[in-house]
Amino acid sequence: MAPPRVPWIYPSLPLLSSLLLVFHASPPSTALRNYPENEANSRDSRPIYPPVTNHCVTALCAGVVTLLDSMSALADLGWEAYPNEGWEEISVMDERNTPMRTYQVCSVMEANQNNWLRTRHISREGAQRVYIEIKFTLRDCNSLPGVSGTCKEVDVGDRVLKLNTEVRDISNLSKKGFYLAFQDLGACIALVSVRVFYKKCPLTVRNLAQFPDTITGGETALVEVHGVCVNASEEFEPPKMYCSADGGWLVPIGRCVCKPGFEENKDICQPCRPGTYKASATDAYCTKCPPHSSSPHEQAMECICEKGFYRAETDPRSMACTRPPSAPENPISSVNETCVTLEWSPPRDTGGRGDITYSLHCRKCSGEGKKCAPCGSSVHFVPRQFGLSSASVLITDLQPDSNYTFTIESQNGVSDLSPTLRGTVVINVTTSQTVSVVLKERRSKDSVTLAWQGPERPNGAIVEYEVIYYEKNQREQNYTVLKTRSNMMTVDGLKPGTTYVFRVRARTDGGYGTYGGEIELETSHEDVLAIGDPNQSTILVVSIAGGIVLLIFLVTCFVVSGRHCGYIKAKQDPDEEKMQFQHGRVKLPGSRTYIHPHTYEDPNQAVRDFAKEIDASNIRIERVIGAGEFGEVCSGRLRVQGKREIYVAIKSLKAGYSDKQRRDFLSEASIMGQFDHPNIIRLEGVVTKCKPVMIITEFMENGSLDTFLKKHDGQFTVIQLVGMLRGIASGMKYLSDMSYVHRDLAARNILVNSNLVCKVSDFGLSRVLEDDPEAAYTTRGGKIPIRWTAPEAIAYRKFTSASDVWSYGIVMWEVISYGERPYWEMSNQDVIKAIDEGYRLPAPMDCPVVLHQLMLDCWEKGRSDRPKFGQIVTILDKLIRNPASLRELANSSACREDPPTPEFSVSTVDDWLDTIKMGQYKENFSSAGYVSLDSILYISVSELAKMGVTLAGHQKKILSSVQSLQTQGTHVQV
Ligand code: AMP
Repeated sequence: MAPPRVPWIYPSLPLLSSLLLVFHASPPSTALRNYPENEANSRDSRPIYPPVTNHCVTALCAGVVTLLDSMSALADLGWEAYPNEGWEEISVMDERNTPMRTYQVCSVMEANQNNWLRTRHISREGAQRVYIEIKFTLRDCNSLPGVSGTCKEVDVGDRVLKLNTEVRDISNLSKKGFYLAFQDLGACIALVSVRVFYKKCPLTVRNLAQFPDTITGGETALVEVHGVCVNASEEFEPPKMYCSADGGWLVPIGRCVCKPGFEENKDICQPCRPGTYKASATDAYCTKCPPHSSSPHEQAMECICEKGFYRAETDPRSMACTRPPSAPENPISSVNETCVTLEWSPPRDTGGRGDITYSLHCRKCSGEGKKCAPCGSSVHFVPRQFGLSSASVLITDLQPDSNYTFTIESQNGVSDLSPTLRGTVVINVTTSQTVSVVLKERRSKDSVTLAWQGPERPNGAIVEYEVIYYEKNQREQNYTVLKTRSNMMTVDGLKPGTTYVFRVRARTDGGYGTYGGEIELETSHEDVLAIGDPNQSTILVVSIAGGIVLLIFLVTCFVVSGRHCGYIKAKQDPDEEKMQFQHGRVKLPGSRTYIHPHTYEDPNQAVRDFAKEIDASNIRIERVIGAGEFGEVCSGRLRVQGKREIYVAIKSLKAGYSDKQRRDFLSEASIMGQFDHPNIIRLEGVVTKCKPVMIITEFMENGSLDTFLKKHDGQFTVIQLVGMLRGIASGMKYLSDMSYVHRDLAARNILVNSNLVCKVSDFGLSRVLEDDPEAAYTTRGGKIPIRWTAPEAIAYRKFTSASDVWSYGIVMWEVISYGERPYWEMSNQDVIKAIDEGYRLPAPMDCPVVLHQLMLDCWEKGRSDRPKFGQIVTILDKLIRNPASLRELANSSACREDPPTPEFSVSTVDDWLDTIKMGQYKENFSSAGYVSLDSILYISVSELAKMGVTLAGHQKKILSSVQSLQTQGTHVQV
């Protein structure tokens, strides 16, 4: 990531396209020209070289390609030495008596040495960045006769020379190849091994996408690589990964999924076994065929239904195959004049489905059931004829005194697919005869006596008669029904001199007959007897037309009261909950709370309340140091009353501003003016009474932190860096205690003074985000610096001190990496996606474990899980007091000699789980197919949950360990 910090390889000989390596030793005094030869000739006095173990054995250190290795040379290396008597190729034996080819020079007794050694041309094979690992020994000059002892001594023990190893990298190579040149200016040195290699991210499969062998980038830290879906898989989301400079793969995004008929097994898609199927690419695994279906061959996308069973088009493939239902059972009819109600029981065999419906077919028969014909459209079915969901129907408008045959058919979703006959049941119904009622009446002042004649051909035995009456014109309000078994009835309790309407009908065991026609009778004022009055008695042939309204009304009442009586008024939803938003802040007793300038009706009042007005004549502007949204930023001096001049930064509002711009510009002063803390930029005052309007702050000699760090890459001790971070955390604690949420905490918004004190700045309102070049528009319209912002703030603008803590974690990463851009060249969209998928920035180079852990804590998904700024200050204070705690580094490059962190010197998933005390999940991992350490490197929370690791704490523990495995890359022995 960062360029090499020690400039001892000079990529600066363009003509030779070579590299120069210079060995200095002081003083280059008298030469001992024969020293190497002497050593070589006299076996006893020869130094013993420790075995040169190659710490980067290719199998372990996947992704390393060696371009040159002096240790593997079988014959002379034959490098060019100039002058001839300078570097000399000498074969020596190591401890195990293995011959090694070395180059040695030891002209320590002669002044002005300038000995050159140049390798053969090394082809770069397309690599842009190569690494050179040199193992060498320096000779103790004290042991050499005549040398006064100023050579560097590195002997260890008795004649065993200590082997020095240096690894350096050079990037941006563009020619075909290069030479390495070593220059000796008078040291006594033996070049024991020179190895030149480059790194590549090895071919790998992640999320079912194959990523090719990829040579790591040159200057650019990451190489974006698009994956190709493995056989029998398809893109779910375009897969890509980044090949890091270390030869490790980072941030897998997107994935492929196995096509229908295939399931994932480790890194391949394998066909579903017979008896199983997978219908959709997004299903994870093949599943057993549902009941009544089978898949005789591999690779089934669905199972075939057994004979007689079917699958409806809308049935999910996972549903059992089904068949048409059997016939409805126990049909019964209930005739009501020319209506009939049919009811039946559902079929005994539903065919395995719940979607049973019924349809009716009606035929009218004559000639004792011999000649039947369809009923035609005059017959009506309530609620409908076809597709009934309940097992009953009312049929109206039949002809009286007729025979009907109804066929009730049961159906379900697969009936149409079956060629065999449906389940049907037949019921015959005879409608009642038209009832002719001969009405006789006798009236008195409060009663009426009626006598009638029953139907000539009733459709069954007459059970009773029903008399209905009401006052004329008041039927709707009040009517009375009376029943009798006899053929006459006296209705009393009537009002004198009132007209009533009467109707009578018979009920047989086959149902009700039709009503006789209406007859109007007026009660007398006096008692009158009038029986058999031919004018009054009427033979009424019931007019169907006249009676039908009443009939339907009555029948409907009957049906409704028996089954669906009335309707249930839709229950009203409960009152909508009213969301109460609390705008006020909770103020801790005794704490000062920041006052938002917008709470002032007059924003100028906020400026007057919080910022001191400075007389422009006391300000001396000296030079331009930056540019802000509203105008230039200059440095200069301010004469403070009764004090000496102080250095200040002066921000001025450029001419031609609008009222809003002036307000927004000064809002920064009215916010900053409320703060008083050594790690918050101090406001000296404002100039508002004359133009240009200015904001005066303390001057921060080293400018913004990001630029400052880039300029001083690698120049600070870790304690100094932690000191800076502590300052920022302390400033942020102060702000959060005052309930101020910064929203744009980033190294570019921290200023550094000459004492390396960091102070938080940039408190504008609109400008907090609008002005930030890093801010990008989100889908919700706001502008947000994505890389620095917590996911909940990006997703739904939930900005809190906890989201500031997330940003603080990013600032930590920026500081430790000396101003590296978070997430490098990844796009904002990729960053959002990667964070959502659980990816977090790996530890920067040379980052202490504890600091990376703190960063990870700041990047907890749940904002309440992140530390508070107060806790961060405490943690950093402890680290500063105990620098040893910073010694353990989070990562070591792929080919470093540092032993792997003990935690991960494991080779199996089981060992790893034991090491992190999660051994109880061994079964879960192995049955989910995670059998190699390699396979767990990109496991996600959802996968953990799927395999049964559901406790959040355990998931967290496992994932953070996986993350460490990722950053350790090739240390994992797989
Ligand atoms: P700003 O508009 O606050 O982002 O300032 C623009 C640039 O001016 C910053 O990036 C700094 O380089 C510089 N600057 C702002 N304030 C100060 C200050 N108090 N001391 C030194 N440089 C400053």
